[in-house]
Amino acid sequence: MTYSTHEQLEQSLLACDACPLCRDAIGPTSYNGSPLSPLTIVGEGPGGVEDEYGVPLVGPSGQLLDKALASVGVTRDRAYTTNVIKCRPKNNRTPTIEEGQFCAAAWLDQELSLVKPKVIIALGSVALKYLMGPTARITKDRGRWFTTKHGIQAIATYHPAYLLRLTGKDLVKAKWEVFYDLRSAIEKCQELAPDYLLKSPEPPDLLALYSQRRQQRQTPKQ
Ligand code: SF4
Repeated sequence: MTYSTHEQLEQSLLACDACPLCRDAIGPTSYNGSPLSPLTIVGEGPGGVEDEYGVPLVGPSGQLLDKALASVGVTRDRAYTTNVIKCRPKNNRTPTIEEGQFCAAAWLDQELSLVKPKVIIALGSVALKYLMGPTARITKDRGRWFTTKHGIQAIATYHPAYLLRLTGKDLVKAKWEVFYDLRSAIEKCQELAPDYLLKSPEPPDLLALYSQRRQQRQTPKQ
């Protein structure tokens, strides 16, 4: 089905039960931020906190992402954040490529055609493989610009959940790599959409926004 507005798409997404992943989740998660933004951030899939709130990247990984974005002058309310896979896989396992392709063909592709971002930041391997191709490798291909099949300029960097597992010199190195990848993305975005403010003039009350979504969420399945 093709949707003519982002609101219609979101309404249908939140009711999706097209694959078994939804059975172990509270329900599909949608997006956060602004569908009018020229910058889209694509993560992997929801974890426990995201499933509870119904929005992507709001748990520990999302908080680290917020800090990393702040270091390059971006607030999350001025970007559009979404995931390849909308339902949390059981026990937080990493989704398979096939699961990602199925869900993204149903939802992410249409999101991108409605939001029409100028620049995509792909976070981690699942997002990179969906947007660049199945042979892509995050260690080899992060930091390299490519064009997605949707015709959008994209760059990949490490998922914040990966950074949270690192320590010592590995963590320092990966953090710098993420910083340079994000800075490159923001420079490209400013070049392609010079009039758009990527930083909110007032610090956004993200918790209030997320809490509203949480209240709308269904009672967890038993
Ligand atoms: S993972 Fe995607 S395709 Fe599967 S039920 Fe959830 S929203 Fe639908």
